[in-house]
Amino acid sequence: MINKGKLFVISGPSGAGKSTVIARLLKRLDNTYFSISATTREPRRGERNDIDYHFVSREKFESMIANDELLEWAEYVGNYYGTPAAPVDEKLNAGYDVILDIETKGAAEVMKKRPEAIGIFLFPGSFEILEQRLRARGTDSEEKVLKRLDQARRECEKVDMYQYVIINDRVETAADEAVAIMTAEKCRTAERKHYFV
Ligand code: 5GP
Repeated sequence: MINKGKLFVISGPSGAGKSTVIARLLKRLDNTYFSISATTREPRRGERNDIDYHFVSREKFESMIANDELLEWAEYVGNYYGTPAAPVDEKLNAGYDVILDIETKGAAEVMKKRPEAIGIFLFPGSFEILEQRLRARGTDSEEKVLKRLDQARRECEKVDMYQYVIINDRVETAADEAVAIMTAEKCRTAERKHYFV
């Protein structure tokens, strides 16, 4: 018998290093699928369409909302971001664990719709480190950096919504912690009941 996969929601301020930690995770865990979000923001250098994000127009995004194609969506720093529902359910039903990298409003929506989802919050260790990382990225204007910092503080106020917190001061340690959390969740008694038939 195949268990359904588990849904992991990973949040944390932009600049916390979520994408890097998730990339490490995906290399280490089999049967894990990263949900590719749709967004109206411009691709950053090195980002690939349909791999990192589905980069779409506002019209296309609004049609996805109207057709109820999104598990959740939110507006973040002037752009839309949303999770296409169909691939998430297909993968969960096929026994894959699914990782969503989404901000806190979307995460709250997912937790309401899917109370079994497991929330993990990633934080770089301090707001000073976060600011340095956002500036080092060098792609956003000063105004955008300040907006993202302000947003980050508000996101961190929502930390109690998550079951786990990872401090990402070293990417390897952060990835180890994420693997530990995901592995432990797979060892829960309910996940292993089918061995006892
Ligand atoms: P970035 O522009 O830095 O890639 O992402 C900005 C924020 O949007 C991050 O906090 C990221 O987790 C979040 N995000 C990415 N995809 C989605 C999504 O599908 N839904 C929601 N609600 N947030 C998302």
